Amino acid sequence: MKISIVSLFPQLFTEFLSTSIINRAQTKKLVEFEIIDLRQFGVGIHKNVDDRPFGGGPGMILRPDVLSACLQSIKSSNKPLVILLSASGKPFKQKTARQLSNYDHLILIAGHYEGVDQRFIDKSVDLEISIGDYVLTGGELPAMVVADAVVRLIPNVLSKSEATFEESFEKDTLEYPQYTRPEVFEGESVPLILRSGNHLKIAKWREEQSLLKTKNIRPDLLKK
Ligand code: SAM
Repeated sequence: MKISIVSLFPQLFTEFLSTSIINRAQTKKLVEFEIIDLRQFGVGIHKNVDDRPFGGGPGMILRPDVLSACLQSIKSSNKPLVILLSASGKPFKQKTARQLSNYDHLILIAGHYEGVDQRFIDKSVDLEISIGDYVLTGGELPAMVVADAVVRLIPNVLSKSEATFEESFEKDTLEYPQYTRPEVFEGESVPLILRSGNHLKIAKWREEQSLLKTKNIRPDLLKK
C-alpha cells in the first residue's frame, strides 16, 4: 500500500514515520509513505496557499487551484482514494480503517486554517473523515491517526502475537481488562481465574468482562 499525505507542515511526520510499527511496516516494504509539502504548489512569489473567505468571516481558506495542482502531481498506478481530514467529515471507526486497508493507494489531505474551498472537495475528494467531535488546529494529527489505524491492519504488519481480532471495536465491544506482573500490586491481586491455566474459563471470563466494560463505558456500542 502507498499512503501519500499532503500537508503544510511535513516536518510533523518525521518522528511518526520513523518509530515503532509504522517504521517496521516500511522496512518490511508493506507500506510506502510519501509526504508532500503543499507550500510547493503555492501561487505568486510568496507561494500563497490560502485566501480570505468570500462572504466574509474569520480565518483563511485553502485555495482549490493549489490543492488541485498538488493532487495532480501525485503519481499513482491505480486510482487512489482521496481523503480529506475534516472536523465535519464522517466519524472514523475501526470498520472504516478495515475498509481503507484494502486500497492500494490512499491520499490523505491535512487541512489547516479555517478550511478548504468546497469546489475542490466536490471535484476531487472521495471521502471526508473526522477523528472526533472536536476541532484541531490542522489535519496532521488526524492523518497520523488514520494512517496508524490502517497500517496495523495490513496483513503481516503485526506479528501473530500482536494480532488485531481481539481488540476493542472489532466486535462492537471494548477489550477486556489486562494484567501482568507483579501478581500483587499495592495490595491488589490479579484475578485468580487468569492464573488458573483453564483457557476455556479464561475466555469466558474475558468475554463477560468485555461486555461489562462496554455496558459501563460505551453502552451505545451494545445498542447496535
Ligand atoms: N472551520 C473548520 C470547522 O469548523 O469544521 C475547522 C478547521 S480546523 C481549525 C483546520 C483543519 O484541521 C481542518 O481543515 C481539518 O483538516 C483539521 N481538523 C480539525 N479537526 C478535525 C477533526 N476532528 N477530524 C479531522 N480533521 C480535523
